[in-house]
Order: sequence, then C-alpha cells, then structure tokens
Amino acid sequence: MLTQAPKGTHDVTVKESYKWQYVEERIRKMTALCGLREIRTPTFEHTELFLRSVGNTTDVVQKEMYTFLDKGGRSITLKPEGTASVVRSFIESGMVSESMPAKMYYLTMPNFRYEKPQKGRLREFHQFGVEVFGASLPTEDAELIGMAWDLTHELGISGLQLHINSIGCPSCRAKYNQALKAYLAERRDGLCKNCRERMERNPMRVLDCKEKTCQQLTEDAPRMLDYLCEDCAKHFEGLKNALEAVQIPFTVDPGIVRGLDYYTRTVFEIIASLPEGELTVCGGGRYDNLIEEVGGPSLPGVGFGMGMERLLMVMELSGVEIPNPPMLDLYVASAGENARMAAFVLCKKLRALNIRCDMDHVGRSLKAQFKYADKCDASFAITIGDNELDARQIQLRDFSSHTELPFSLDDVAGIAAAIRGKVQNDQ
Ligand SMILES: [Zn+2]
Ligand SMILES: [Zn+2]
Repeated sequence: MLTQAPKGTHDVTVKESYKWQYVEERIRKMTALCGLREIRTPTFEHTELFLRSVGNTTDVVQKEMYTFLDKGGRSITLKPEGTASVVRSFIESGMVSESMPAKMYYLTMPNFRYEKPQKGRLREFHQFGVEVFGASLPTEDAELIGMAWDLTHELGISGLQLHINSIGCPSCRAKYNQALKAYLAERRDGLCKNCRERMERNPMRVLDCKEKTCQQLTEDAPRMLDYLCEDCAKHFEGLKNALEAVQIPFTVDPGIVRGLDYYTRTVFEIIASLPEGELTVCGGGRYDNLIEEVGGPSLPGVGFGMGMERLLMVMELSGVEIPNPPMLDLYVASAGENARMAAFVLCKKLRALNIRCDMDHVGRSLKAQFKYADKCDASFAITIGDNELDARQIQLRDFSSHTELPFSLDDVAGIAAAIRGKVQNDQ
C-alpha cells in the first residue's frame, strides 16, 4: 500500500517529465502568439460553483466529483474541470469591469473525477485550457479552434479531424428540446435507464449517450441545427466562413453536444482517427451565459480544454519521438578527497557559466564514475586526480570525437567556452 499510488493517479517520473515539458513549451509559445496570459486557480472550490456551472444533471456532478466537508463544515470539491474556476476568479478579481476581451490560459491544471480508470482516463488528470471572455463574434471561436488545430498538428498527432456543431441559445434550444422530447418519448422503452431520466431534464444529453441502443435510436432524431434562431444561425455561418478563410477543414457533426450544461452556440471537438480508434484530443465551445450564471455581469465566453495525459498518449500512438535532451554537458570525475573538493569548486563555477555539470558525491571508483557519466549522457568529462591538482592542469575529454583538450584548472571560462561551442553546434 505504502509504495503504491492511489488508483487512477499517475506519477510523472524524472524519466518522463521531459515529454511534458516539450508539450508545455509548445503550448506557451502558441498561447503567447495569440496574446493569452496564464491564470492559476486553486485545486478546490466551493461545491456550489460546480453545481451552478457544470450543471446538476451532468454525469460529472451526479457521479464523478470528489466532494467532502472540510473541518469548518464547508462543502468543498476538487476541480472536475477548469472553466468554472477561471470564471469565478475572473469575476472575483474585478477583471470583469476592465476592457474586453480578457484572454487567458491555464496549463497542467490538476482535475479530479471519480471514474473507472482506463487507458488515457485517470482520476487525477491535467488540463491545458484557454478561456476568452467578452468576445461575442464568431471569429473569436475560429481563432481558438485554429489555435487548438495548429497546436495538435505541431505536436505531430496524426489523423486529426475537426467536428463542429451549434447547440443554439436558451431561446431556440427550448423549442428544439420540445421536439426532441416528443421524438424520444415515442422511443422511451428502448432507451437506457440513464437516458429515460435525462430525457425529462436535459434531453440533448441523450444524444451524448455511449450506449449502442441509445445511439441507434437517436440516429434520426431532430437536429439542433434545424432549430437555430436567426442570431444563432448567423453566428454558426460566421464561424464556418472564418474557418474556411484560414483553410481549416471541418465536419458539421450534430452529434457533438459536449457533456456540460454551460455551452451555448458553438461546440467543437478535435478528434484523432488512429488505427486504435477515434480519440478526442480537444473539446470546447461557447458559454455565453456562464459568467452571469455564476454571479457576474452578462458577458460572453468561449474556450477549450485538452487533457495533457490524453495528448501525450495520442502523440505516442502517432509515433511522435519527443527529443530527450541529455542530462549533463560535463561530468567531473575525481580521485581522492582533495580532488573531490577541486571538482566541487569547478562545478560551482561552471554552473555559473551555464554549463550543466555534475560530480561524484558517493565515493565511487573512477571506473564507476565514468559509467555514471555515460548514463547521464554527458558529452564531456574531466578527471581530477593528484597529478592534475599538482600541475593545475586538466584534460577536457570530448566523448563524441574521442579527443582531449588541455586546460589550466583555473581557466574556467576557457573550459566553459569549449563546451558551449560544441553543445550549441550539436543543437
Ligand atoms: Zn438561438
Ligand atoms: Zn442512454
């Protein structure tokens, strides 16, 4: 028990973290290009926030939240998703009254859902997400979709497809819900138990059901797109035009309804079609009533999220080889106590000159030290023994060219320059 992580959690070990850093670096570059700044919100929030935003009828709220009473008797929930918390912070910070739009992203934010753990689905997972508040025009939706589209391509994921849909606004959706309810009522007995409940409170959710029988029964269900009001239809046209203007191919997919209550108008998913199956790598949409719902002014919002674990899994399935940079530029081997102290001083000085180096703190033989240097992928090594100390003269060994260059032990800048020249050439 003690040496086993809880079910549904995953360690990012020192041997894997470079992959996360690689993805994070690309995300930071992409978000900066679009003028987004980073926001960080707490891991837990008042439970009420998610009841109001994500919605009472969703699976997330009904089954999957980590909710508990704290010692003060408050109901606390570990964040099941990223948007609600960002909206809460946006209102609380007073940014709602500044000039719009407000554009932000969050990176590797931990989210928690009590689900049956399976490949690519964990109980604690991490999200990258983008939220833009105060921009109502469809070019904003297209801008965010384009950002997600470019990023997933840049990460080397294969078989990417963009599916878009509009789920309208509360006024046109009311009419649609009536039509959908009537359609479902005729087929009630064929629906799963969940859907028989859902169809009363939130019929659209039935379209999202994973049960085969429900999927078959809803194949010919009325489509939201046929019920859009004039404004919603115009918005959807605007989105399609903007995507076409930047040559992003898309499929209009009435089956995309997303699992959360707060969406309005645009919803979209980016799906990777791989031999292993279809995997959603990004999902998002517009939520024009959420800010008001949570207690802020009436301001529109649009955003998307990507699960980091899912992204990394799909990259692996796509055969992407993430470069693993060597741990060290230089290993300083030493024999004897005086030599170890000289190595200690040399490493300290070289690190100040941006050379990544390490030395022996275990008291191993020179042979064992070199084995360790090899494990660290060091490109260079220096050996300090009594002779080197007496003469204050060392050899800088270059592993790749099998050559040695003599240096004074005190010429730290010279040693650093030789290493840097080589390391930079290699990159
Ligand atoms: Zn509408
Ligand atoms: Zn169902």
